[in-house]
Amino acid sequence: MSDCIFCKIRDGHIPARVLHKDEQCMALEDVNPQAPTHLLVIPLEHIPTVNDLTGDHRELVGHLYLTAAKLAHQRGIADKGYRLVMNTHRDAGQTVFHIHLHVLGGRPMEWPPG
Ligand code: 5GP
Ligand code: ZN
Repeated sequence: MSDCIFCKIRDGHIPARVLHKDEQCMALEDVNPQAPTHLLVIPLEHIPTVNDLTGDHRELVGHLYLTAAKLAHQRGIADKGYRLVMNTHRDAGQTVFHIHLHVLGGRPMEWPPG
């Protein structure tokens, strides 16, 4: 079995608060939230980093963003604002090497991040 946490969640081997699942992605509550709303939109396919995306993933990447925006609307944070982040490799703070779009909102955020 894969030792990837998000593959294990996808396959139901680790519990998670799953908010959405379709044929391409799932969305869940981050276990260690950094904002009042902190969701993760995760492709079902195991893709380690953004550097591993190919032209075949164009539609998938668009789908991740559209799903994030839909969830932001559902959470009522869309109009005030929210941040979408995909960390890539260690300097950016990536800790789980299965790409995921962070959806952060519900509080003002600084820019640039630390
Ligand atoms: P990264 O640092 O790779 O950009 O983000 C990984 C995110 O996954 C972190 O925000 C972390 O809190 C979250 N995370 C790690 N393990 C789990 C888990 O088992 N369940 C959930 N729901 N989130 C997790
Ligand atoms: Zn994975």
